[in-house]
Amino acid sequence: MQEILEQIVTACRPYCSTGKVASYIPELSKADPFALGLALAGMDGKVYSAGDSDHPFTMQSIAKVVSLCLALMELGPELVFSKIGLESVADPFNSIFCLEKEGAFKPHNPFINSGSIVLASLLPFPDGDSKFEAILEMARSMTGNSTLNLNYDVFYSEKFTSDRNRSLAYFLKSTDSIEGDVEETLDIYFKQCSIEATAIDLAVMGATLAGNGRNPVTGEEVFPPEIAKIVRALMVTCGTYDGSGEFAVKVGLPAKSGVGGGIMATLPRRMGVAAYGPALDFRGNSAAGTKALEMLSEEADLRLF
Ligand code: GLN
Repeated sequence: MQEILEQIVTACRPYCSTGKVASYIPELSKADPFALGLALAGMDGKVYSAGDSDHPFTMQSIAKVVSLCLALMELGPELVFSKIGLESVADPFNSIFCLEKEGAFKPHNPFINSGSIVLASLLPFPDGDSKFEAILEMARSMTGNSTLNLNYDVFYSEKFTSDRNRSLAYFLKSTDSIEGDVEETLDIYFKQCSIEATAIDLAVMGATLAGNGRNPVTGEEVFPPEIAKIVRALMVTCGTYDGSGEFAVKVGLPAKSGVGGGIMATLPRRMGVAAYGPALDFRGNSAAGTKALEMLSEEADLRLF
């Protein structure tokens, strides 16, 4: 397996030049566009990795999986999905238009920005700091890495430039979709996006989802199987945004991407896999990372579909 991962990283590095590093969050533009890493964590807790798999980067939208797991644990599916839909959407992850056209002003799903901002406001903890601490603890349990932390440079960079997310959040406040202080809710959202992890950490997170909520490296039962089932299904339909259909055809695995360049994927009962490549395609998914996962799926016969 080690050899396969190394061969794939070498073969896919040229695809880095087909993408562009995100720059709308200024701090992200500092990433090396030619970085590429690949990692795999099995249900026996063994981890394999190649390339830049131990290079830290911010989780960005991959943290939406973490906050969804936490919200489902704390509030249950019925309440969560009375506020946020379960449907995919053909618009970009930060679309304002898609929110307005819904009519009921309910975000289509928890993996687009508006959905995750609603989740941040819903979490049943007394204040913004304790909500973020709970998200960080969930991320640590899912990755088995108790040292995961916030990258403050990325957090402040997004906080001071994110007019789009601020617009989404104030729109949601105007429709009573979020309660409380909008700026406090946004801070929780920006902080969750700025949790730093490696491809190795994300492969273990994928393995926790594959193991129905049991982290195979630490043995911790992080959440019950029903939650893993819901989250994996949404990762298929919405995990790579308006590219989810193409991703399902090419890679064939439930996955979640982030504009930091990470993709976390899961193969139920078998393994978690993750890629890191900060050069993104036009939808905001890692260009070389997607190619690497496609090749891995093909070579190791991992496709679910
Ligand atoms: N922090 C990013 C944003 O809100 C996350 C988006 C993403 O990773 N697709 O724009």
